[in-house]
Amino acid sequence: MEDDHSRKLKFAWDKYEDKDIESLNCLSSEYKAFLSKCKTERECVKELILDAERKGFKSLKSAIENGEKLKPGDKLYANNMDKNLILYTLGKEPLEKGLTILGAHIDSPRMDLKQNPLYEDILYTTHLSYFKTHYYGGIKKYQWVTIPLAIHGVVILKDGKEVNIVIGEDDEDPVFCVTDLLIHLSLDQLDKKGSKVIEGEDLNILLGSIPIKDKDEKYRVKINVLKLLYDKYGIEEEDFASSELEIVPSGKARDCGFDRSMILAYGHDDRVCAYTSFAAQLNIENPERTCVCLLVDKEEIGSAGATGMSSMYFENSLAEVMSLCGDYSDLKLRRTLQNSKMLSSDVSAAFDSNFYSVMDIRNSAFLGMGVVFNKYTGVKGKVGCNDANPEFIANIRAIMEKHNVYWQTGELGKVDQGGGGTIAYIMAKYGMNVIDCGVPVLSMHSPNEVVSKADVYETYKAYLAFLKEA
Ligand code: MN
Ligand code: MN
Repeated sequence: MEDDHSRKLKFAWDKYEDKDIESLNCLSSEYKAFLSKCKTERECVKELILDAERKGFKSLKSAIENGEKLKPGDKLYANNMDKNLILYTLGKEPLEKGLTILGAHIDSPRMDLKQNPLYEDILYTTHLSYFKTHYYGGIKKYQWVTIPLAIHGVVILKDGKEVNIVIGEDDEDPVFCVTDLLIHLSLDQLDKKGSKVIEGEDLNILLGSIPIKDKDEKYRVKINVLKLLYDKYGIEEEDFASSELEIVPSGKARDCGFDRSMILAYGHDDRVCAYTSFAAQLNIENPERTCVCLLVDKEEIGSAGATGMSSMYFENSLAEVMSLCGDYSDLKLRRTLQNSKMLSSDVSAAFDSNFYSVMDIRNSAFLGMGVVFNKYTGVKGKVGCNDANPEFIANIRAIMEKHNVYWQTGELGKVDQGGGGTIAYIMAKYGMNVIDCGVPVLSMHSPNEVVSKADVYETYKAYLAFLKEA
C-alpha cells in the first residue's frame, strides 16, 4: 500500500513474535512481583539496591569513604535516606559531555497515619478503635473506603532502632478498612458532590473492637490494641510520633482481562516507569555517555523535601562522582548538567471511552499502543510545564524508530479540564533537554490502576534505546 503520509497509531501486540511475547511476559512477571512487594518508597529503595548490588553496583558512600578512584564502566548507587535512589553507570566520554538520564518517582498516592493516630470512639459509645490518617497526593477519597488495606512502614524508636512493619499482605494477616455508609441510609450522602461524599477526616482506619478485661479503664479497646502492638513490635503510643506508616491497598498485582494483556495493581504511578527505567539501567554495560537512573520521592506532593527532585541530593551526588573521577570543578559540574539529556518518566492518562468527554481523542494516549511522549504537561495554558524542544523530540523519534519501539504522543485530557505536573521542569532548570514520557494508565491515582503489558514492554525498550543512543 502506498504511504499516505498520515500519522499511524499501531497496536504494539501486532508486531510481536513468540520471542517478544516471552520477554514481555518475563518483564511483566518481574514487575508484578516488585509491585506486590514494594508499596512504599523505602521498600522500593531497599529491593532495588539488592538487585543493583547483584549486578555489580557499589555504594557511592563507601566509594567516598574509601577514596576510590572511579573509571569508565564503574557502576554506583547513591541512597538518599532510604527513599531516593540514584544509579550511575560511568561512560567512556568525559562527564562534561553530559549524562543520559532516566528519571521517575517511587512514591504513590495513599493515606499516611497522623502523628497521634490511635483512638477509640467514646463519644458515640461504639468503642471501635481507629487510626486517624492524612491522605498523601491526589486521591478521590470515596475510592478508598471498604477495600482491604495494609499497613507498611517504619517506626523509629528513641534509641534509633528501626521497627519495620508490613501487616495485611500475607494470607494469614489481618487487613484494615475505612467504612462507608450503607446505601439504605445514603439519601443525603448521594446528593453531595463527589469531593464531599467522603471527606479527609472520614478516612479513619478501623482496627479493633475487643476490650481489655479491666472494666474501670476508659479506653478498653484502644488499650488492648496498644498491648498487641507492644507485644508484637515493642512500640508504644508515643512512638507513632517518629513513625512513617503508610496505608495502602492490600494484595498482589494481578493479570487483568481474559487475555491477560493488562495488569491491575496499586502504585503503577509511577513505579511502572521507575521499574522499567531501573531495568534498562541495569542492562547497560560500558556505555559511551554516563547513564543515570533517578528514582525520587515526594513527586505526588510537589517534589519538595530532602528526598524529592527539588532537593540538592542529585547534584551533590554527581559532584562526588566527578570528584572521585578526578574531574570536579563547579564549572564542569554545571556543564555536565547542561549537556545532559533526560527522559522524565511518569504515567500518562490513557484514553478511557467511559469518560471520552474530558479527553481530546486526537491527542490522547491509548492502551497498548506503546510508550507515550508528552511534549508538555501543565495546567491552564501549559502553566508549570517543561515543554520539550522539537529538536530534542526529533532526536528521540529517530532513536525510537531505529529500535522499532512503538510510541505515541499524549496530553493529559482536554485543554482547561485539569492537568498535572512532573519532575521535568526541575531538571530543565539546569538547561538540559528533558521530555516527559511514560506508560498510559487507566484509573490513575485510584487504589487499583490498569496498564497494558505491551506498553510496559515498549517503555522498557524505549529507555534501553535512549540510554544506548542519546
Ligand atoms: Mn506520577
Ligand atoms: Mn501521580
